[in-house]
Amino acid sequence: MAERIKMKINLTQNLTAIVTGHGKTKAYLHRFKIAENATCPCGKMHQTTDHLIFECELLTKERNRLKSSISQTNRWPTNKKALIGKHYKDFTKFINEIPFEEINAEETTAIEFQSL
Ligand SMILES: [Zn+2]
Repeated sequence: MAERIKMKINLTQNLTAIVTGHGKTKAYLHRFKIAENATCPCGKMHQTTDHLIFECELLTKERNRLKSSISQTNRWPTNKKALIGKHYKDFTKFINEIPFEEINAEETTAIEFQSL
């Protein structure tokens, strides 16, 4: 029970977006026509949650920290389910370090401009 309460408190906007796939990522914003396209600013792929967790070059530093903290018990690559289930604390830290506003800054500006 105490564990559950703690999890609720730690459920940040970033984490909610990553776990549910709703919000923040460009793939999501594009689907609802908030972003012009779904391509990640790294230029490689559509910015899905899996892309951010496992591939995006913009998050290499943050991902390496996550990798080194979980590699003592498990092997990388792992999957999202294991990250949330077994490595909740480290995974949350990684997710909360994703500077969505910064890496998607161009789109945010575009949205603000359009709404004027
Ligand atoms: Zn990317």
